[in-house]
Amino acid sequence: MELRDTDRALVQAATAVAKLRCRSQNHTVAAAARTADGRVFTGVNVHHVTGGTCAELIVVGTAATQGVTGLETIVTVADRGREIVAPCDRCRQVLRDHFPALRVIIGSVEALRLLPIGELPPEHHVEDGQQNTTSPASAPAPPAARSAAAG
Ligand SMILES: [Zn+2]
Repeated sequence: MELRDTDRALVQAATAVAKLRCRSQNHTVAAAARTADGRVFTGVNVHHVTGGTCAELIVVGTAATQGVTGLETIVTVADRGREIVAPCDRCRQVLRDHFPALRVIIGSVEALRLLPIGELPPEHHVEDGQQNTTSPASAPAPPAARSAAAG
């Protein structure tokens, strides 16, 4: 899929929110999503030992709060220069179920890629709140509390 200027702008929006709002261990990842008509919604994760909520789901809820239930493109950016991260498995499932045609921006800022939500490669992703991203592709399974805290 070909990237548009609006896709790059979405990355910039998520990056700006990550830099501006992710300044504690409670908020470490920002996401930005765009509708087909160009509205942009952003959000940050809420980390907590009980599970917390990923930035992507905060964005979905924020959009729904504004009456928007159709998102076209989403990107997630981690704090402290960790750049773009792919949605976690739980978010992938939620996003796929709610927005089957959603496009996800992944890759590095220098080599952005745009993929349908259903075609994301099973690559390493950052669990919200996790501080190190240098671990290999075998990401640890999320704690039980995370999967029980959906919604
Ligand atoms: Zn997630």
